[in-house]
Amino acid sequence: MNIILLGPPGAGKGTQARHLVDTRDMIQLSTGDMLREAKDSGTEMGNKVAEVMARGDLVTDDIVIGLIREKLEGDSKGGFIFDGFPRTLAQADALADLMESTGQTLDAVIEMQVDDAALVERITGRYTCGECGEVYHNVTKRPKVEGVCDNCGASNMKQRADDNEESLRQRLMEYYKKTSPLIGYYYAKGQLHTVDGLADIDDVRASIASVLD
Ligand code: AMP
Repeated sequence: MNIILLGPPGAGKGTQARHLVDTRDMIQLSTGDMLREAKDSGTEMGNKVAEVMARGDLVTDDIVIGLIREKLEGDSKGGFIFDGFPRTLAQADALADLMESTGQTLDAVIEMQVDDAALVERITGRYTCGECGEVYHNVTKRPKVEGVCDNCGASNMKQRADDNEESLRQRLMEYYKKTSPLIGYYYAKGQLHTVDGLADIDDVRASIASVLD
C-alpha cells in the first residue's frame, strides 16, 4: 500500500510516518530528511538547498523528483509513505507518472488537518533525536529521561535550523500557495481522506489505521 501524508509543516506527518514504518513495515520517503542529508553531506547540491531550506522556501521540483525517483526504483516492502512530497502540482503529476512507470499505485492520500496557531506552538517546541530521528516536543512529548531518546537511548537531541517562527511563516506561505491546491487535486481523483491532526497522537494513529484498513 502506498500513501501520501499531506499537511502543513508541524501537522505530525513525520511522527505518524515513523509509526507506520514500525508497525507495518512501510518505507518512509521524506524529501525533507533526504534534503537534510544532502545538506549535511556538503555536496554542491547540498550547499545549494541549504540556503533555500533555511529561508523556508521550496527546493526546485527537479531536485526532489530526482530524489524520489531513485527511491521508487528500490525495494517497496510494505509500501511507501510519501511524507512532505508532493508539495506542488508538478510534483504530484511527476509522482503519478513515476508510479505508473514502476508499476505501482497510489492507494490513499491522507490530509492531516491542523490550525495555524497550533502549528506555531508545535514547531517552535519541536526537537528530534539526532541518531534515530524520533520526534519530541517540549510540552506534548518529552522523553522519559530529559535529553535521552526513549527509542534508541542516545543523548543527541537536535532542533532543526528552520524550526523558528520566521522560517515557519514562510513555510506556511509556501504551503498555502503551492501545496494546499493538492487537496482539491486528490479530492477530484477520489483519493483524499481527512483526519484531525490536532487529536492526540494515538487518536490520529487510529484514524489513519482506519483509512488504511
Ligand atoms: P520538511 O522536513 O518536510 O518540513 O521539509 C523541510 C524543507 O525541505 C522544506 O521547507 C523545503 O525547503 C524542503 N522540502 C522538503 N520537501 C520538499 C518538496 N517536496 N519540494 C520542495 N521542497 C521540499
